[in-house]
Amino acid sequence: MGSKVSEGELVHVFLVSFPGQGHVNPLLRLGKRLASKGLLVTFSAPESYGAEMKKANPKISNEPTPYGSGMMRFDFFEDEWDHSKPNGDDLGMYLQHLELIGKKILPTMIKKYAEQGSPVSCLINNPFIPWVCDVAESLGIPSVMLWVQSAASFSCYYHYSESLVPFPSESQPEIDVQLPCMPLLKYDEVPSFLHPSSPYIFLKSAILGQFKNISKLTFILMETFQELEHDVVDYLSKIFPIKTIGPLFKYPKELAPNDVQGDFMKVENCIDWLDTKSPSSVVYISFGSVVILKKEQVEEIAYGLLNSGVDFLWVIRPPTKVQNFDPLLLPDGFLEKSGDKGKIVQWCPQGQVLSHPSVACFVTHCGWNSTMEALSSGVPVLAFPQWGDQVTDAKYLVDVFKVGLRLCRGDRIIPREEVEKCVREATSGPKAAEIQENALKWKKKAEEAVAEGGSSERNMQAFVDYVRSV
Ligand code: UDP
Repeated sequence: MGSKVSEGELVHVFLVSFPGQGHVNPLLRLGKRLASKGLLVTFSAPESYGAEMKKANPKISNEPTPYGSGMMRFDFFEDEWDHSKPNGDDLGMYLQHLELIGKKILPTMIKKYAEQGSPVSCLINNPFIPWVCDVAESLGIPSVMLWVQSAASFSCYYHYSESLVPFPSESQPEIDVQLPCMPLLKYDEVPSFLHPSSPYIFLKSAILGQFKNISKLTFILMETFQELEHDVVDYLSKIFPIKTIGPLFKYPKELAPNDVQGDFMKVENCIDWLDTKSPSSVVYISFGSVVILKKEQVEEIAYGLLNSGVDFLWVIRPPTKVQNFDPLLLPDGFLEKSGDKGKIVQWCPQGQVLSHPSVACFVTHCGWNSTMEALSSGVPVLAFPQWGDQVTDAKYLVDVFKVGLRLCRGDRIIPREEVEKCVREATSGPKAAEIQENALKWKKKAEEAVAEGGSSERNMQAFVDYVRSV
């Protein structure tokens, strides 16, 4: 499917991403959707991250490349930040710096496109960089945010930022939180950054920062779907201009020849290995792009898996340059003992893995992308949340969507016996059958949402029509 039109003839949208895998993936998927519908999409992020993406994905190009009936190009900007310097991993300092740099560079980039005959009609950003709205405002362009977490988490942050209901506090750290159209959340099911004991102060202010600029947004696109979170979506839609457009992970297959991925690490082939395994026999384990488990916990998971006798594919990502951790080592002799029953990789094509028939369940940290990918692939989960919205997503996966079991709560080390028991329960017997059945129901609903006439597809088309009308 090639496009014969030139870039100047296409309506142009400019996407700016915070540099993190959990932010890049959904925004890039949105970009691909918009391009496939005939828009010119420029995807931008700091060059420090872009360089890693280019290394892992040679197809990434500054030249507009035909994509569906539109085009897509990448245009990274220099963030002038040395991530390996002392304090290079200080998110608070980096965010302030990024705002200063971005507010200078982005207007220049966008004006350059206008001079070249390809003016930008809309700016789209994801959370942590709310100042992109100010750039859009200064240029007289509408701005839109892609919210990359659940609608339920959005509601938590909104109610907290406006002090609309009591949340856990220093004096009442263990109170439950009741928000409109949501189940009662226990104190440890509210996004952990909102808890008084959370050490991640900068993440809290980064995410709440988005709410300060929220009135400037023309739309809030959400990586969820109406059928999944209808009550809270309906409630929030009365307050904010929300359009649910997920799961973005399910995009048209016919785009494959020009497809680009946003991985920040080289993807290892594990599909050949999965092909050798029987249907629904493998446990897939991954904790996303940021979480690093304690060495003791890794050891307990390793022995729990080994003792369960179930085959497993485990992503053990080395810490990045900016994460001050030692590389995780598996227990001595573990690899020999597991033999061909287990495969360890540093990074995998998670979408393909979750779609593989050999995968029986997913031990996940419950990041929202992983949550949506599991739901829309029909894969049940063992919830192992660590912090942030992961704890709220785990609550929903287990108690609301009913597609999983809870393996971890709080920060105690989960012993190998519990890991073994949970893995067995999720892969065979009546509970496994129940969560598998529910997971397949959600897969069907997710597919319907993005198919022609589905709720997300209608919202996506309405958004494209809006952009064309600007
Ligand atoms: N991912 C991947 N390969 C891996 C591990 C993760 O492609 O080996 C992707 C995964 O599909 C998801 C993203 O990384 O899209 C992680 O995002 P998520 O929101 O789940 O977690 P975060 O990394 O933000 O904590």
